[in-house]
Amino acid sequence: MLRFVLSIMAVFSCVCAQGVSENAYSAIVVPDRVYSYDRMVDDLEKLKSRYSLIMTGGHIGTSVEGRKIPAVRLGRGSHKILVCAALHAREHITTNYLMYFLEKYAEAYASHKAVGDFDVQRLLDNASFYVVPMVNPDGVNIVQCGMEASAHCDTLRKMCFRNYEEPVHRSWKANANGVDINRNFDFGWENCLTDSLPASSGFKGFRPLSEPESKALADFAKRIKPEAVVAMHTQGEMLYLSTPDDKAKRIADRVIRSTKFAPQPIDEPYGSFQDFVDHHFGVFYACVELCPYIGPRPFDESRFYEIWEPAQYVLPIVADTLIGDDAHGDKKVGKNLRNAL
Ligand SMILES: [Zn+2]
Repeated sequence: MLRFVLSIMAVFSCVCAQGVSENAYSAIVVPDRVYSYDRMVDDLEKLKSRYSLIMTGGHIGTSVEGRKIPAVRLGRGSHKILVCAALHAREHITTNYLMYFLEKYAEAYASHKAVGDFDVQRLLDNASFYVVPMVNPDGVNIVQCGMEASAHCDTLRKMCFRNYEEPVHRSWKANANGVDINRNFDFGWENCLTDSLPASSGFKGFRPLSEPESKALADFAKRIKPEAVVAMHTQGEMLYLSTPDDKAKRIADRVIRSTKFAPQPIDEPYGSFQDFVDHHFGVFYACVELCPYIGPRPFDESRFYEIWEPAQYVLPIVADTLIGDDAHGDKKVGKNLRNAL
């Protein structure tokens, strides 16, 4: 843990020339196939190695079944944006979204290319994305490989199944303790009325932050103190936005225009990660529901680009708007970097 904090928070002291000519490398991330936990870990290591100039990382904690929860920092700027995916197990297509984002923007930075209208050098010299691409790796493993692949298989089989359909593990949403990570945070938790026992979805846990995955994400957020937070979910091409100030409202307006997703009213606090961020930081928050509504099952990876297309600029918009509020900071870091190159 300490090693990760040091590495991810460290100022980049070693600047190595890493100009990558166009098409010099083949892509590491293949976003339209299933992302298992192991493949994600492998690809993150490859990405960090290839793009060490602009990407570093480690892990933020360990899941119920002992999987390290990876996180990477993309960017070297002072504006901190926390981004996470796969809090809900069956929504693991959101991991694909963040892995594709990481490679696309790291590659654009290294090869001095723009993405859309965005100057990626400017974005990543002035902002940093702290990305947790799979918050709930045990749950994802259950969805992808079945309950027999879990160390808690016997316990899981006795739990209540919501959204029951065959095979039941495909609709799993919780972690390996049968707790919904997104109802386990420490603000509004007591107001969440759910089943009193672990289940495939919807159980808030026996106490707030009881789960190692939610605790790891909460602790990580408190360490980095983000200026904005984005969490990826899947159902319905909608947005749940927290806009506590004018800056947050400007980000929200741009995200709505770009995605054309409908903003939804925010529920009373119920222990979600959004409630946690609202309470502790009071910054822009977007819960992005990336996919058309498909019911309680994973979205088909082969249709990845259908969900990438409308939501592809959410993260650069957040960074660009935060940077746009700077009076003096623009390209401060970038100048040094370009000299070194
Ligand atoms: Zn979700």
